[in-house]
Amino acid sequence: MGRLIFLLAVALVVYLLFKTVRRPPPPSVAEKPIENMVRCAQCGIHVPKGESLQVGVYYFCRAEHRDAYRG
Ligand SMILES: [Zn+2]
Repeated sequence: MGRLIFLLAVALVVYLLFKTVRRPPPPSVAEKPIENMVRCAQCGIHVPKGESLQVGVYYFCRAEHRDAYRG
């Protein structure tokens, strides 16, 4: 009888260990969303969309680059 309880205890430990290993990893906090960042078509740096200058499908970090891109 004691042997059966021991086996059940071992099975429980193995189950808990397996469950712990199978747990999905926590969401990464290192990756920040950059959906509001746009790339300057002239110099390539990323600027917040709200601070950028948009011309058609292109974004620019400043008026000088916008004018330079137009040529
Ligand atoms: Zn630029």
